[in-house]
Amino acid sequence: MIRQAVLEYDHAEDALERLDELIAGRQVHVLRGSHGYPVVERLLPSIEAYPGTLFAGECTDQEADRVDLDGADVLIAVGGGKLVDTAKLIAVRNGVPLIVIPTLASNCAAFTPLSVVYRDDGGYDRYDVFRVVIERVIVDDRVIHSSPYDYYRTGVIDTVAKFYEARYLSGDTSDDAGVDAGLALSKQCHRLLALELTETAFRSYGEETRYAVDHVLAIGGAVGGFGDAGTRVAIAHAVHNALSQFETTHAFLHGDKVGFGLLVQESLHRSPDVAVLQAWLERVGAPTTLETLGLDEVDIPKLVEAVVKETTLQQLPEPIDYDYLKIIFENLQKTVYR
Ligand SMILES: [Zn+2]
Repeated sequence: MIRQAVLEYDHAEDALERLDELIAGRQVHVLRGSHGYPVVERLLPSIEAYPGTLFAGECTDQEADRVDLDGADVLIAVGGGKLVDTAKLIAVRNGVPLIVIPTLASNCAAFTPLSVVYRDDGGYDRYDVFRVVIERVIVDDRVIHSSPYDYYRTGVIDTVAKFYEARYLSGDTSDDAGVDAGLALSKQCHRLLALELTETAFRSYGEETRYAVDHVLAIGGAVGGFGDAGTRVAIAHAVHNALSQFETTHAFLHGDKVGFGLLVQESLHRSPDVAVLQAWLERVGAPTTLETLGLDEVDIPKLVEAVVKETTLQQLPEPIDYDYLKIIFENLQKTVYR
């Protein structure tokens, strides 16, 4: 099935200025994040007048139930990926449309009709796919441009992964129109590999950075929206989930773990791109060894088990080669052998 959630996407240097016009007198409730919200408030002081709730930090059922819209006709989400995921749950449960103001260029949560839900104890619970109406995603240059660079950097890695994971699942082209559209969009995501990924380039916010931001926030989300199971996550994200079971990896952002997972996925596939990816990840400061991620040789069997379990849950088209996977992790343990 083809699923999209967003009616309008407005990326401009003054995108916030059109918020009041979009609200058009409706009753509003704002879900505010603690980090990015002050930047939005400084640019658009009128937002302060609307009733709102401060986000507690995790996307859980309890958090979605806690937010009382008090009869509002529209919900505005101001924050990062977890906040946006929570806002989608709230909007669907209350039957109201959503307006999203991302404060980080790190994920495609603003563009996908799904939420990743966690349990109250912090563990991963499930992801819900639903019909949510996102009236507009408001991407204001001034907000994104001043956001933390590391979130953007890892967002770009996660978006490049869309290409490799889609290709892993469906090859270069497909007879299914939705999957083929997803593959075509994923090829655009692959172009981010060639762009300059530095904090200087990000802060200068030129054409290339705008192109990358649009792919992180929107096009990357549309890949899965068109291709569904044919272009969703594959081994790179399975490795990410498996790594997340190790305490030492919690200090790394999502995209950094996905990037390492990409090396594993492409090695399993015996892809000629492994060396290019490895050089790129090293250049942009992403971890490329288990040692950097805080894992030892002795952790490899547990890691292999976890990856195999994750890929079984994902119902990947091919079974994974257990022994080869172990060798790949051994080779990625340290850089000294190279
Ligand atoms: Zn991801």
